[in-house]
Amino acid sequence: MKVLKFGGSSVANSENIKQVLSIVAKTSKEHKIAVVVSAFGKTTNNLIEGANTALVDIKVAKEILETIKNLHFQVIDDLVKTHKNEVIQEVTSILHRLNSIYEGIFLLQELSDKTLAKVCSFGERLSSYIIANAAKENLDATHKESRELIITNDDFLNAQVNFKITNKNITSFFDENTHQITLLGGFISSNIDGKTTTLGRGGSDFTAAIYAAALQADELQIWTDVSGMYTANPRVVKQAYAIPEISYEEAMELSHFGAKVLYPPTIQPALRKEIPIRIKNTFEPENAGTLISKNPKNGNEVKGISHIEDISLITLEGGGMIGIPGFSKRLFETLSMAKINVVFITQASSEHSICVGVYENDAKKAQHLLDETFSIEIDRKKIKPIIVENDLAIIAVVGESMKNYQGLSGQMFSALGRNNVNVRAIAQGSSEKNISAVINKYDAKKALNTLHEQFFEEKTKQLNLFVTGVGNVGERFLAQLQQQKKFLKENLKLKIRVIGISNSRKMVFDNDGINLKNWKEALENGEPTTLEKFHKKVKESNHINSVFIDNTANQAVSEVYEKYLRDSISVVTCNKIACASNFDNYKTLKHVSRKYNASFLFETNVGAGLPIIDTLKNLINSGDRVHKIQAVLSGSLNFVFNNFDEDSTFHDVVAQAQAEGYTEPDPKIDLSGVDVARKILILARESGYKMELEDIVNNAFLPKESLQTTTNEDFYASLVKHENHFQEIYNEANNKNCRLKYVAEFVNGKANVGLQHIPAEHPFYNLEGSDNIVLFFTDRYPENPLIIKGAGAGADVTASGIFADVIRIANK
Ligand code: ADP
Ligand code: ASP
Ligand code: MG
Repeated sequence: MKVLKFGGSSVANSENIKQVLSIVAKTSKEHKIAVVVSAFGKTTNNLIEGANTALVDIKVAKEILETIKNLHFQVIDDLVKTHKNEVIQEVTSILHRLNSIYEGIFLLQELSDKTLAKVCSFGERLSSYIIANAAKENLDATHKESRELIITNDDFLNAQVNFKITNKNITSFFDENTHQITLLGGFISSNIDGKTTTLGRGGSDFTAAIYAAALQADELQIWTDVSGMYTANPRVVKQAYAIPEISYEEAMELSHFGAKVLYPPTIQPALRKEIPIRIKNTFEPENAGTLISKNPKNGNEVKGISHIEDISLITLEGGGMIGIPGFSKRLFETLSMAKINVVFITQASSEHSICVGVYENDAKKAQHLLDETFSIEIDRKKIKPIIVENDLAIIAVVGESMKNYQGLSGQMFSALGRNNVNVRAIAQGSSEKNISAVINKYDAKKALNTLHEQFFEEKTKQLNLFVTGVGNVGERFLAQLQQQKKFLKENLKLKIRVIGISNSRKMVFDNDGINLKNWKEALENGEPTTLEKFHKKVKESNHINSVFIDNTANQAVSEVYEKYLRDSISVVTCNKIACASNFDNYKTLKHVSRKYNASFLFETNVGAGLPIIDTLKNLINSGDRVHKIQAVLSGSLNFVFNNFDEDSTFHDVVAQAQAEGYTEPDPKIDLSGVDVARKILILARESGYKMELEDIVNNAFLPKESLQTTTNEDFYASLVKHENHFQEIYNEANNKNCRLKYVAEFVNGKANVGLQHIPAEHPFYNLEGSDNIVLFFTDRYPENPLIIKGAGAGADVTASGIFADVIRIANK
């Protein structure tokens, strides 16, 4: 004997029911089967909505009834042939009764639990009857009313089963029943007086387990719309997958903490009789699904993660509780008398506070009752009034063999911490089947994905990028990312997605990752943006391993880094403004980055893609000390002075440098030496020196007038005007057989930048194109410096430097 249960979505319409009947037909060839069905689709919800509506508006309630009616008649029309008239008559008469109940609710203006249970029962009464008649077309099937078999107490909406009577009813019915297939409604039952009761929302699973246990079935099959019990709710965690095998206890923990695929009480009856439960997908019957049994095959030490939203924490706190017995007894007694379910408990070891988690719906009532229970102690200030916190969720990591592994809870909480998920309370049973934590409900999705990545996806890591600035560098970066995506996934097991992109006008977001083949079009069609709006969206999307990337040279953008870092969102930037701003700001960003565990990387601030800052960091971290830095750090100035001679004009060479992407958007920043000054400042700071931009001596070569221009147009005009000045500078060097290089120097705490005449034997002499070079003289490299040299400007190399920083974050 097997018991098969089909849930609401499996019987949502004629098409789906046909699929159910084919599974039933196949299974019944070899076994006698009991088939338990839920109400069609969302019928239970509709029935409840109809009842609540009837209290205020009978007309609308009847419209809801009409929808219910149409669905059922459609199924009859499609699937019942032989007894069609009889079935139509019976269903009409059942629905007529429902109509009368709605009218009664309207007239009496009253909806008791008893009446609501009656209303709810119509879904399964109708579905089981209609499907039984559809099955009878080709199969040896019969229908039995579950309310005649399953007997409960008077708790109408959440009735407790009287197993003694129920089991007897079931066995005696099936002893007589000769049909190969018996259709039964789930969820519905009756009390000892024959009044309708129900087993709680989602209770059809439980009904099936009750039949399976009573009949000592070989297997209980729960057919639903997913292919098993997953490592996490597949609607929330995209990477979740079906758990092949799991124990009764583990399944119970997962379902208790929100894995809706199985109604929690279902396990008990099956466990008692050791009946294996198989969870299968009606729409993909070939999938193996999940097997729940006593001795599952070894799997992961963490089996699954589940969560419950809409939780409130209720805290009883006060010095007056210490050492005095009975407080928790009174707390739990009060809640239990009011039938308030306690989902979570922790108690501080000092006995100074007890904290319980309840469903948010129950929180107000619980607060009120507990304030009453403890009113004397509260009045005497022995304890504080009850504290209630809402908008919380519980996440639970479940696995029986977790107890055999060290450090799992450490991994759990450090992963949550890394992603800025604040943990409000923790509980871990001593059996260590489950570690659960209370968090802000808005963090639930992120927390589940974080933990899923931690425990089930060590092999692939996900990084979620938010890119601001899609000019030269940004565009190249996105192109490189698109090109490298597959390689990173296959070779580094790294999944990088761009979730948000913005320029100065618009922004676009896609929580599943923006298609990088047509991001331009998507951005054009995006919504208007500001820095605040973008930040708000990034924060709201609340992804794990988030990285904000600044590809601009904009001051205002550099001012939002701190906000991102404080949200534990890493920052990667080619914009030098933040690191070259006042020292306190630079220090704050570094401090915040450490405190909130978010990387702050700016390799491209010096030498574009060259690994200058990273190398320096490695030197310093390994105990080396920098004495002197000599460097040519401006790819743009290098380009300019390598191309400028008696046959060209300074203006044209600068214009060409800008056109080829070697200068900042405002070329004066390069030519005035400010850009180089910022770079040597950053290197000095990264070497451990406290310096400000003003401390750097800038021996500018631009005429005063050029320095004072405010627009690019005026600046270029001033270059034309002062061509002679530039030719003189050139001739002076040329006459000495020297080349002009704009050199940055840092020696013993002092720094300067300016044009120097470089003779032929100097390592800077042959520096070509836009190349940069840095010489680090340190304790370990005192005479022969450590040299880094290569292309130091250009969109492509800068973009690849940004890319390298992103990979550094991934490898952290
Ligand atoms: P049915 O109507 O068949 O009883 P339910 O809606 O009650 O189906 O349960 C199936 C749903 O449970 C899935 O569609 C999924 O959204 C949800 N679910 C939550 N957690 C899990 C999990 N860990 N594994 C599988 N499904 C889950
Ligand atoms: N139809 C009921 C409900 O929606 C029972 C079930 O489907 O399990 O809650
Ligand atoms: Mg269900």
